[in-house]
Amino acid sequence: MTQDSGDWLKDAGLRTRAIRAGISRSPEGEHAEPIFTSSSFVFESAEDAAAKFSGDISGNVYSRYTNPTVRSFEERLAALEHAESAAATASGMSAILAVCMAHLKAGDHVLCSRDVFGATIGLFENTLKKFGVEITFVPLNDVDSWRAAATGATRLMFLETPSNPMNAIADISAMATLSRELGAMLAVDNCFCTPVLQAPLSLGADLVTHSATKYLDGQGRVLGGAVVGNKSLIEPIVAFNRSCGPTMSAFNAWVMLKGLETLDIRMRAHCANAQALAEWLLTRPEVNSVHYCGLPGHPGHSLATRQQSGYGGVLAFEVEGGREAAFRFINHTELMSLTANLGDVKSTIVHPASTTHGRLSQAQRTDAGISDGLIRIAVGLEDLEDLQADCDRGFRALSSG
Ligand SMILES: *Cc1c(COP(=O)(O)O)cnc(C)c1O
Repeated sequence: MTQDSGDWLKDAGLRTRAIRAGISRSPEGEHAEPIFTSSSFVFESAEDAAAKFSGDISGNVYSRYTNPTVRSFEERLAALEHAESAAATASGMSAILAVCMAHLKAGDHVLCSRDVFGATIGLFENTLKKFGVEITFVPLNDVDSWRAAATGATRLMFLETPSNPMNAIADISAMATLSRELGAMLAVDNCFCTPVLQAPLSLGADLVTHSATKYLDGQGRVLGGAVVGNKSLIEPIVAFNRSCGPTMSAFNAWVMLKGLETLDIRMRAHCANAQALAEWLLTRPEVNSVHYCGLPGHPGHSLATRQQSGYGGVLAFEVEGGREAAFRFINHTELMSLTANLGDVKSTIVHPASTTHGRLSQAQRTDAGISDGLIRIAVGLEDLEDLQADCDRGFRALSSG
């Protein structure tokens, strides 16, 4: 294997790192990254096997914990987050699970923002509670209530910003200050922004988690996840993966590697399309409100402007007429995919109150601003005019209703 990343790579721009970091060429001299689909690796001698098993020398042993293609993806993602290290996992959920299993124990307490991904709530509430980890859910952008909810046992603060689908924004620096006060770790789910738009580690977070399934792949092909941070915090996560097995496959790592190469241009294009669509929706008489942090009227706009280098691809808007009107709108669109996924070149449309947020109580939904007339669009990369024409089909159905 020869690495073709020199010292210049550390100082290179984000696009360059996304294309050039983590390349390991085999003696075949291939240009594109190879896929090593092998469950195990052979040793040169019994001594070599012993040294690699004990960890005295690094090298490939078994793909549950050492695979060259997965390592390339980890190195490339770490380079994008300006981090020492990254650990790839089978999915975004297993990335969050790995953080918890590696760094928490029975009796510890977790603070988590209320508007996190639904399965994240389930992971804390159903799975970790069984093992004696306490959890308190707190409002995303209110540091005082985080401080008030902390206990002497608080070891982890976990949040997701911007939130899904309302685009609420947490002040990562302020949260990092609080986490140091508490002697707790701050982990940020950076799925919506990716390293292109937001760098939580440079704002003081200890760990970043990703659902690579979303924008990192970006084309809806495979599942994957990752945790990024300092070596000292990633090593226990690697050890958890090694003994418990929620590993990323070599094929998925290869897809993600290729996804990262176009991440910057895709994210910029997602942002531009989402911004234009949000501004256009704002002009529509059928729309009560548009929730996108790129709009100056959004409560998180100034914080997002300071903290992010773009506003992302997910927006929500509310139509007059509640659930019936929202369903009618969605059912009359033809281009956008009716699916709860996001972070895809294909635009997706969904009714949060009856799907992604359907398990919340009415009171919890009202609290989070998820009304029955709310529709979420994860804006893809189709032509803006065609997305507007698709929304027009929905609007026409409302006025003819
Ligand atoms: C999808 C998602 C996850 C979970 O990722 P999977 O790859 O589906 O396991 C976690 N966080 C956020 C913000 C997500 O959108």
